[in-house]
Amino acid sequence: KNVVNLIAAGEIIIAPSNALKELLENSIDASATQIEIIIKDGGMKLLQITDNGKGIYKEDLPILCERFTTSKLIEFNDLQNISTYGFRGEALASISHVSQLNIITKTDNDQCAWKSTYKNGDLIGGIENGIKPVAGKTGTIISVEDLFYNVPSRLRALKNSNEEYSSILDVVSKYSIHVENVGFNCQRQGKSLDIMIRKNSNRKDRIRSIYGSNIANNLISVNIEIEENFIKDFGLIKCTGMISNTSFENKKLIQPIFFINHRLIICDPLRRAINSLYSTYLPKGHKPFVYLSLEIKPQNVDVNVHPTKREVRFLNEDEIIDKIIISIDKLLSELDS
Ligand code: ADP
Ligand code: MG
Repeated sequence: KNVVNLIAAGEIIIAPSNALKELLENSIDASATQIEIIIKDGGMKLLQITDNGKGIYKEDLPILCERFTTSKLIEFNDLQNISTYGFRGEALASISHVSQLNIITKTDNDQCAWKSTYKNGDLIGGIENGIKPVAGKTGTIISVEDLFYNVPSRLRALKNSNEEYSSILDVVSKYSIHVENVGFNCQRQGKSLDIMIRKNSNRKDRIRSIYGSNIANNLISVNIEIEENFIKDFGLIKCTGMISNTSFENKKLIQPIFFINHRLIICDPLRRAINSLYSTYLPKGHKPFVYLSLEIKPQNVDVNVHPTKREVRFLNEDEIIDKIIISIDKLLSELDS
């Protein structure tokens, strides 16, 4: 229970796109190679995600939505070694408190799939009646219905369903660029696919499919390794990705895309540094395409800055950002000349 106290509890689910991000990360954690997303009314009526991952054991279903139920964290020491995206066991619990949550899941060992429904963290029907056999393939279907039905203030604070859906598409787009070897489909219920990324398509094709050929044809690969000596055993920092040396008219491109240790994150100091570097190359107001994936030893990353786990800080941030910027500047100036 020590772990519990060490983790800042917080509000995790503030919009449908947050919920979707958590569910998406769970599917990726479960080694899914195909992920289908169906949305109704901007995610307020329905968020459904179907994956072909390893599934959830039937015996885990009764406690799945209790807080801090996680298969990914055993002791505090593990906090130092987080390699999967999720690690706090709060996502499903939080979602079940603000929606009706339905789960259908099957592992390879099960003869059939099992269906359960949760409200306020509890399995509806209890262990005796709450888990029903249904037909299904290995993997998990999670349906979140009537999100924020019991939080009218949150519902009022949300944007209209088109804008909420755009935020969802934005999260799915970024993950589908980052996570190769996984296929992604996303659509509004009954409508055509808005995102369709084939499992075996490469990163450039993924970017083309989402942001267009204009961008995909003007990208350079980033592959930076930084040996950090400020602290003993800091380890190697890797920064890979794809960036453009031109700007684009594309309203989907608002800010650089950053992943740290395979999680989509916000890092304001890095964002500011990238934007200011580009301002020396591009006319004012022009937006480049920037996708960077950083790998830093987990013990040097602090993921608890913000309860939604998106704002991330890391040790020696300033020095590391400086080195990244110098390398990218070099890449851009070589292209320029
Ligand atoms: P965390 O991801 O932090 O462990 P969550 O509340 O997001 O916590 O999920 C709780 C647990 O439920 C996970 O640790 C995992 O074991 C299981 N789980 C959730 N979603 C899936 C999924 N799509 N496939 C397999 N297991 C899942
Ligand atoms: Mg999770």
